[in-house]
Amino acid sequence: KVRVRFAPSPTGGLHLGGVRTVLFNYLFAKKHGGDFVLRIEDTDQNRYVEGAEQYILDCLNWCGLIPDESPVVGGHFAPYRQSERKAIYREYAEKLVAQGHAYYAFDTPEELEQKRKDVPNFQYGHGHRYDMRNSLNLPLHEVEELLHDGTPHVIRIKMPEDDSISFHDMIRGYVSFETNQVDDKVLLKADGMPTYHLAVVVDDYLMKITHAFRGEEWLPSAPVHLLLWEYLGWKDEMPQWAHLPLILKPDGHGKLSKRDGARLGFPVYAMNWTDPKTGELTPGFRELGFLPEAFLNLLAMLGWNDGTDQEIFTLDELVERFSLERVSKAGAKFDFEKAKWFNAEWIKKLSAEDLKDKVATLFTEKGISVDNDEKFLTVIGLIKDRCVLLADFYTQGAYFFEQPKEYDLNAVKPKWTDAKTAFFNEVSEKFSANETWEAHDLEAQFKAFTEEKGFKIGDVMLPFRIMLVGGKFGPHVFDIAALLGKDETIKRIEKALK
Ligand code: GLU
Repeated sequence: KVRVRFAPSPTGGLHLGGVRTVLFNYLFAKKHGGDFVLRIEDTDQNRYVEGAEQYILDCLNWCGLIPDESPVVGGHFAPYRQSERKAIYREYAEKLVAQGHAYYAFDTPEELEQKRKDVPNFQYGHGHRYDMRNSLNLPLHEVEELLHDGTPHVIRIKMPEDDSISFHDMIRGYVSFETNQVDDKVLLKADGMPTYHLAVVVDDYLMKITHAFRGEEWLPSAPVHLLLWEYLGWKDEMPQWAHLPLILKPDGHGKLSKRDGARLGFPVYAMNWTDPKTGELTPGFRELGFLPEAFLNLLAMLGWNDGTDQEIFTLDELVERFSLERVSKAGAKFDFEKAKWFNAEWIKKLSAEDLKDKVATLFTEKGISVDNDEKFLTVIGLIKDRCVLLADFYTQGAYFFEQPKEYDLNAVKPKWTDAKTAFFNEVSEKFSANETWEAHDLEAQFKAFTEEKGFKIGDVMLPFRIMLVGGKFGPHVFDIAALLGKDETIKRIEKALK
């Protein structure tokens, strides 16, 4: 059975690249009827950030990418938080030492720091193994003594010399590394916690992960992981790897970072993230008014297409169409205008009913209560094709529920005449006498009267719109009047004439 995992470290907000990683894992698993596991990789106490795990869970919920197994819902392979699996890893680290594939190293942080200062591009291992304080070059009795005395130590992998390691990546094909380029990474830290490298391999094995999609930035770690799979005797069960192409800055130069977003004025995180230490807020797509459907859709298209011109896909369609062959090796440029286009398309695609709750929340936040469901749905239906972000529903729709706060007087003042004032006074009288109130009739009535008074329709339509809406925007003006109702329409004409 296909089993994939998303294995984030709870160190802060979730970059859109992180959500794309989740999405590709999810699509692949669901396409093959498999399971999607969420595992929290929280073994690095120094980088642990309060609240980050909950934030990740909230993001997955918002996107609708719901794990089959996770710290929340549990599962057969629980616990799913590595800090709660601490006892598991030491055994494997020690087994590697016994086999000669790993070794104890006693260097103090100060010694390591000095070494890094003295040696440019310092790498632990190879030549350096033998001038560091480790069990590969200290006499055995000394090592035993140090261990016996409880001297702080780590366990490091022993990278082979002058060798190369290769594997087949599902996206990149054949990939190979020179072992001399990779240092002897720490596997078990002085506090007894595993490092990411050890924990990721042990857990992917124990949790029976079959395929693993992760960002390209993890490619340099792959040789360490491959060796661990081999040394631990699990090579045949190693998941198939897929390293996803980077998401690039809009100009294509380098990886899109949180800082690029701030600089260029668009979000890079999935949802708002407030750093609990600094209080700094990094904006997210959700709060800016993106729909989760649109967010997933645009992420899917960053590095994948189905080979046709189709760009709008539901999650179900993505599951059905997804194929690894169509994931590109090259980085995908992030284009915020295009991202907004996806959102606008999704607002068009969804029904007023689908959008209702989100728009209602927005209106309530702005102090507009929407108790008339039928009117509310009609309003959403009338304006949704003009909205790009959810917040646009407010600018495009508030006037249906409250009088315009301001009027675009420049649009009408220069051409205003007393005759127009008289005309609208009469319109308002005529409207008062109406027994029905339908857009179609209103339009006919208004037009006939315009002609009768010798105006061109263009002379009076825009003023009428501005009286109702406040500005030069919105749907068909008689649809607006119909929806506002007779009393409110007349009230607005009269208020504007004052
Ligand atoms: N814990 C790693 C991260 O924070 C997971 C990388 C992987 O998927 O192997 O992204």
